[in-house]
Amino acid sequence: MNKIPQALLNSLNNLPGFDKEAFEKVHQSGEQITSIRLNPAKIFNVQYSMFNAQLGAVAWSVHGHYLSTRPSFTLDPVFHAGAYYVQEASSMFLEEALKQSVDLSASLKVLDLCAAPGGKSTLLQSIISADSLLVSNEVIKTRVNILSENITKWGASNVIVTNNDPKDFQRLENYFDVIVVDAPCSGSGLFRKDNEAIEEWSEQNVQLCSQRQQRILADILPSLKEGGTLIYSTCSYSKEEDEAIADWLMLNDQFSTIHFQLNKDWGIVETQSPQTNAYGYRFYPDKVKGEGFFIAAFKKEGTSNNAQGTRLKTQGSRSKGEKVTAKEIEIISPYLKNAASFSFIKLNEEIIALPSFIENDLSLLQSALYIKKAGIKMGTVIREELIPDHELAVSSFISDNVTRIEVDKETALQYLRRAEMKLDATGKGWALITYQQIPLGWIKILPGRINNYYPKDWRILNK
Ligand code: SAM
Repeated sequence: MNKIPQALLNSLNNLPGFDKEAFEKVHQSGEQITSIRLNPAKIFNVQYSMFNAQLGAVAWSVHGHYLSTRPSFTLDPVFHAGAYYVQEASSMFLEEALKQSVDLSASLKVLDLCAAPGGKSTLLQSIISADSLLVSNEVIKTRVNILSENITKWGASNVIVTNNDPKDFQRLENYFDVIVVDAPCSGSGLFRKDNEAIEEWSEQNVQLCSQRQQRILADILPSLKEGGTLIYSTCSYSKEEDEAIADWLMLNDQFSTIHFQLNKDWGIVETQSPQTNAYGYRFYPDKVKGEGFFIAAFKKEGTSNNAQGTRLKTQGSRSKGEKVTAKEIEIISPYLKNAASFSFIKLNEEIIALPSFIENDLSLLQSALYIKKAGIKMGTVIREELIPDHELAVSSFISDNVTRIEVDKETALQYLRRAEMKLDATGKGWALITYQQIPLGWIKILPGRINNYYPKDWRILNK
């Protein structure tokens, strides 16, 4: 383990809760903490052979668990099926932060602005109501694919993935009820997990990050409704990126600070920013069972709490796409649970199922943002047959009536490698391969052979 930069240690010296000796010791100890968060939409009666007797609860996340050892996730088919997400435990506190600041039973429009690879987004999706919309955005193009992949595997229908710069959201004034900014930062909170982050750390980078964090927030704030909630987090210990940003927010806009009730046993340190007394919450690895993290929540003052006030500052209009015919709807509907609750649109011949309540939002968002993915891609209808898409296979809304073939672990891994599989499959046509009852993807049964349709780009390369 590289040594923690002296300049960082010096800068933390007088911060609340900072204990230099314990902090250095926990970094030198080599201890690694592994935690996962289960997907409540996919895990109901799965026998967790892999994790049995290992699971310990993360105090602030209902579906968060610590594992006593780090298994090879690549070799767990259920991981590829989106049944859980490997997520650092401190950052799961977002769940508690939202429970204490937002009415999660309401129908909300939620933005996760800095979303890749998707840890906070998958958590948000699990805790918002079924009639809420999550917009999961990532500005960096090369990182949007992994975000889309993780959102697809999570299987939800109420998520729209976008690829936009924060300033693009200014076209959506007064739109979101909740905005989460998990900001790009100098990364000191991850030193224990990621030795290279130590090499990359510098005081100058802390300053640059702090300026960028202010720019991101300034760009995004107009799209938060009055009365809406802003959650700001970093994995940095530096006050320039944490309490100073909280002060900047409170001084620059109409925000009030949100105070959380903490259980003392959690080891989380409450702080107040020097100028405006905004509350913030610090996670030190010598005090909590997790990595370094900072989180703070703010309420935007004012009372408008519906979307009527949304003004779209754009001239563009939605590309309409082609119409989905009644015949096509008849062909695809049997593939979905509760098909009547979905609307269907067609883009480039591909049919997309959207929860009906999202349709208007999608039109609005399409005229302001670049949409990478929305709802569930069903596939294409050719000669009165659906050629189903992988998104449908791993969606939580696929009908129980679709043919399923349950396989053992070795066969599941062969499937995920996109290799040939030995299967005694009878019948013909499209079928789902499942492992522990959770769908992994499509095969097509043909006379004398089986075609493996696992997406090429996602196949596992590990032998
Ligand atoms: N929320 C993610 C999760 O839980 O999986 C992690 C987000 S990471 C801390 C910060 C993200 O911000 C990165 O994906 C990064 O690409 C993105 N980012 C970098 N520069 C940005 C900018 N100027 N504006 C918005 N996002 C930016």
